[in-house]
Amino acid sequence: MPPAPEAPEALVIGAGPAGLMAAEELAKAGVQVLVVEAKPTVARKFLMAGKSGLNVTKDEPWDTFATRYDTPRLRPILSAFGPMEVQDWCRALGHDVYTGSSGRVFPVEMKASPLLRSWLQRLITQGVELRTRWRWAGFEGAAFRFDTPSGPQTLTPKVTILALGGASWQRLGSDGSWVPRLREKGVQITAWQPANMGFHVDWSTHMTPFFGSPVKGIALMAGPHRERGEFVISAKGVEGGGIYSIYKYLRDGAQLALDLLPDLGQDEIPRRLARMKPGESTANRLRKLGLDRAQTALVMEFARAEPFAHLKHLPIPLQGPRPLGEAISVAGGVAWEALTDELELKALPGTFAAGEMLDWEAPTGGYLLTASWATGRWAGQAAARRIRL
Ligand SMILES: Cc1cc2nc3c(=O)[nH]c(=O)nc-3n(C[C@H](O)[C@H](O)[C@H](O)COP(=O)(O)OP(=O)(O)OC[C@H]3O[C@@H](n4cnc5c(N)ncnc54)[C@H](O)[C@@H]3O)c2cc1C
Repeated sequence: MPPAPEAPEALVIGAGPAGLMAAEELAKAGVQVLVVEAKPTVARKFLMAGKSGLNVTKDEPWDTFATRYDTPRLRPILSAFGPMEVQDWCRALGHDVYTGSSGRVFPVEMKASPLLRSWLQRLITQGVELRTRWRWAGFEGAAFRFDTPSGPQTLTPKVTILALGGASWQRLGSDGSWVPRLREKGVQITAWQPANMGFHVDWSTHMTPFFGSPVKGIALMAGPHRERGEFVISAKGVEGGGIYSIYKYLRDGAQLALDLLPDLGQDEIPRRLARMKPGESTANRLRKLGLDRAQTALVMEFARAEPFAHLKHLPIPLQGPRPLGEAISVAGGVAWEALTDELELKALPGTFAAGEMLDWEAPTGGYLLTASWATGRWAGQAAARRIRL
């Protein structure tokens, strides 16, 4: 491999979805781009995201889509590259997409690896250079300093895009170690919080056989908020789509309760119980009402004394969120006050930031990847304009 150019026109640090998208935009604009990545291979979190079906976006109009983020600053960015553009982009890479019943959009292959392979191939054809095992370790004057396999290196590009990710699933590369380096330079950073995460439950040993079991066909309630969905009972607590749909309220302290019979009115339960044989066991009665074994176990765990009184509102005592490292995504990161509308760091002119390292928060459902791509594209285009001024 030839040595990296010491002064590339554009440097992208972090080869996740945001960084690779920024590199693509720069290369399309005819800018010479070097991408450096700390890990031995690129886009590890993206590949992990594809393990259980890569949900690239949600099939809804961009302005509805944009309301699911906690900041209006993303609106212009998503109007330029929203759900429709993500789908076109996948197709242009040769990977057809389909929309599931919930409106979630997936590549036909479901996995991330075929899409990533095609994308990397296109980036190489566009002239993008890539170096792995290059860890950004801080600044040396105006230069960016890296730890690399051949020792410390410094680079002085004309423009830089930081796309270093958030701070969850650190083993995949996004470890948040960049936070003190940017703070030192006067960049405001909002403290991390887990997002789209599970919650801890202190189960009794009675629940051990149900670890890994899905709980389906229920409604989850957090204070006044109610969502139909499902979740998984894990050794550590509760996790999965239904929990992620209400995690914000639970993180703010709302109590979790389950409606185990969401299609049955409260009055219907005693009527159905009255029609059952007098000597019938509790487990049999619950089964005849429609509960499966995992749901019955939850009732016996938390409402053993009055099992039939809580079927429409079974409180699940939570002992707080699971840690940041286990969360699907994070809230917090580079504060919007620290950024221009072009995603340039006000404290570091010529340096732009993109992806999950910015302070935005959104549910699962393709919102995370779409915003990572959209901000990478936005920052890449702004950096290219800067070079061509
Ligand atoms: C289990 C799981 C499933 C998910 N499923 C989905 C899904 O189906 N749909 C969806 O929309 N989202 C999903 N996500 C979220 C999505 O993967 C992330 O939002 C997205 O990868 C963020 O992209 P990014 O480029 O901002 O950051 P990252 O993907 O985290 O990339 C950042 C890159 O920067 C590198 N880096 C960090 N520090 C340094 C440094 N000092 N020097 C050099 N390089 C560095 C990292 O190694 C990494 O490669 C999932 C996440 C997880 C954990």
